[in-house]
Amino acid sequence: MWDNDTFERISRSIDELEPEMVELQKSLVPLVALSPGSGGEGEKAKADFLKSMLESWGLEVTEYRAPDKDAKCGYRPSLVARLKGEKAEPCLWIMTHLDVVPAGSRELWDTEPFEAVVKDGRIYGRGVEDNQQEMVASIFAVKAMLDLGLKPKTDVCLMLVADEETGSKFGADWLLKNHELCKSGDLVVVPDAGNPEGTMLEVAEKSILWARFKVRGGQAHASAPGDGNNAFRAGSTMVVAVDKVLHERFPAKDELYSPPESTFEPTKKEANVPNVNTIPGEDVFWFDCRVMPEYPLDDVLAAMKETAEQVAKQFGVTVELTTGQTVQAPEPTSPDAPVVRMLARAVKDVLGNEARPAGIGGGTVASFFRRRGIPTVVWGRATGVAHQPNESCIIAHMTGSAKVYCHVFGQDPGQGKA
Ligand SMILES: [Zn+2]
Repeated sequence: MWDNDTFERISRSIDELEPEMVELQKSLVPLVALSPGSGGEGEKAKADFLKSMLESWGLEVTEYRAPDKDAKCGYRPSLVARLKGEKAEPCLWIMTHLDVVPAGSRELWDTEPFEAVVKDGRIYGRGVEDNQQEMVASIFAVKAMLDLGLKPKTDVCLMLVADEETGSKFGADWLLKNHELCKSGDLVVVPDAGNPEGTMLEVAEKSILWARFKVRGGQAHASAPGDGNNAFRAGSTMVVAVDKVLHERFPAKDELYSPPESTFEPTKKEANVPNVNTIPGEDVFWFDCRVMPEYPLDDVLAAMKETAEQVAKQFGVTVELTTGQTVQAPEPTSPDAPVVRMLARAVKDVLGNEARPAGIGGGTVASFFRRRGIPTVVWGRATGVAHQPNESCIIAHMTGSAKVYCHVFGQDPGQGKA
């Protein structure tokens, strides 16, 4: 841990670097890093700019190019910049993403989306918060170390990846599959979600399962139901039965999550007949399930199928069960993992806030790391402006995060509970 005087110096240094941080944001916004899937050219211009900047500071930067024939340059770049610490392992990774989402409708913006505008302590522009706020903060945390000639306790690696917004196939997923970068004992911070206070340390995710039920009966005139078989009636009974069985069979509770249990929600209902006086011969509905990670999704599907078939038999209809999105969540990161403890300590000391481990209902890029057994925390100081018109970054949040990272750099991951 840094002594008080040293951390004071670091903190002052970050404050002095604030204008440079704002300048970097201004340089990055016009380097539109839109993935080809969103109609853009990819991240090359932004990656090239950052690479030469980081190298000019004396950092060792490695570029990884994921082949993508749809990108203008034929690849999607990711960068790793290493700052040597007192020891090489475990390595502390801070992963941020280069790509941004499209601006959306121009009329909804008060300023040009791809020109950064600074006003009242904020920077406006696409990407300034998601994910440049934390990217710039982590870069300048490293800069402060270089300027002051300080060494972090262990190696720090900034991982700047492509393709986070459209599935990570050419970003984190590709990088971890094709290169031996992170080891299971390493520490990973993904600062890409959270709350304004920085008190949410996301360590766990529920699995996601979208299931579609297609019920087939027989169409008929509504005045003669006996000539057909009402698929809507059978489907309605099925919804209620499936809902009940899932809640009974998968009851696990864990206060880490909000809500603290699995959710099984009937959601989409596809249109059946266009007129009132026809018995529907077909009925289609969906369930969106967010399942506690300890339950295999195959078990959930099997329970759905068994229940649906029982109801189908009772009504003399058939049912076909198919799936949409299916993501089995990886094993959660332990709420006691060193990376969780270190970040909580830094948030407490720097921001004065009490941060807590939490679980969420959807998948994030952290799953690619957790699947490899690497403890990973998703953290950040988000204000709900990501992907919105007039996206903005609170400058004080950016400098605050830089101090949080510097605080973490001074902590020894091997030390016991703080
Ligand atoms: Zn993001």
